[in-house]
Amino acid sequence: MLLVHRPEGLYCEAGDFFVDPWRPVRRAVITHAHADHARPGHAAYLAAAPAEGVLRARLGAGIALRTLEYGETIESNGARVSLHPAGHVLGSAQVRIEHRGEVWVVSGDYKVEPDPTCVPFEPVRCHTFVTESTFGLPIYRWAPSAEVFAGVNAWWRANADAGRASVLYCYAFGKAQRILAGVDASIGPIVCHGAIEPLNRAYRAAGVALPPTRLVSEVKDRAELGRALVLAPPSAGGTTWIRRFPDPSDAFASGWMAVRGARRRRAVDRGFVLSDHADWPGLHAAVGASGAQRIFVTHGYVPVMMRWLAEQGLDAQSFETEFGGEEGAAIDDAGAAAAPGAATDGEAADVAGPAGPRADDPDGRA
Ligand SMILES: [Zn+2]
Ligand SMILES: [Zn+2]
Repeated sequence: MLLVHRPEGLYCEAGDFFVDPWRPVRRAVITHAHADHARPGHAAYLAAAPAEGVLRARLGAGIALRTLEYGETIESNGARVSLHPAGHVLGSAQVRIEHRGEVWVVSGDYKVEPDPTCVPFEPVRCHTFVTESTFGLPIYRWAPSAEVFAGVNAWWRANADAGRASVLYCYAFGKAQRILAGVDASIGPIVCHGAIEPLNRAYRAAGVALPPTRLVSEVKDRAELGRALVLAPPSAGGTTWIRRFPDPSDAFASGWMAVRGARRRRAVDRGFVLSDHADWPGLHAAVGASGAQRIFVTHGYVPVMMRWLAEQGLDAQSFETEFGGEEGAAIDDAGAAAAPGAATDGEAADVAGPAGPRADDPDGRA
């Protein structure tokens, strides 16, 4: 067993480090900068080089961080460790651990569809694959993102023609930048909430091309706001900040928008089904491409995924973890978290695990 569960997190004894620990430890290997995986308080961090800016933006410029290029290998005690693209957000990595001929890969969060804001998912062969299962139900099947962005653009264009702002709620890190890279910026100005703009800067500093964005305070001509696409975290809903925009149409971008109940409880005009996690076929594709015979499931719909794995003849196991929720896992069921204003940061806070979306309430895609 190259990884075991400890109170602090998943521990690699051979290499003497933790992967995405949820309590402070001496040495942490971090798959990506979402709050449930990259927590403050570790003595030393190791992450992929493209993650440096976003990690420092979120955890503080002063963290003790060593970075590796994708594919670069280091020795840690007796174990060989390398990081490989996970395609989830900027700098996201799968952790490959090799010890005495045994290979484990911890995928963190991942998606298999390419995304212009990060290096695409790269299958890594291993004996044991540790996977998430955030959207591990058969009802979750994503449309190609080009289709989703065509829908976002059409919604934005129609609002702009009517002089209405288009307020699109999305998570500040990852989703917001993917939307920026995917929309047609010729439709109108793009305004970003103050929680999103620092992450845009980190993406641009890492060489990711994003269209120009402004803070609302930088928009002098009020009429411009009526043509604007406004990106805001869910926590901005119902605040005075959001009330500055003229007669806004609002929408939410999340994988959970595939479920009608989630959209209804969010009480927004539109739901765009856009996720940075693998959908049900994507999870299966990643498991198959790993070649692994033993699979550990860490978070999401764990029993459903384990049942499917066992049906494939694989050794299906699970780790109890404290991951989950940067897509707001419980938005569907937790009444209190249902309105955009109820969630805090969205990234990790409004979570009770994906008990939420109901399999009896699928609704295709927006
Ligand atoms: Zn994540
Ligand atoms: Zn996660």
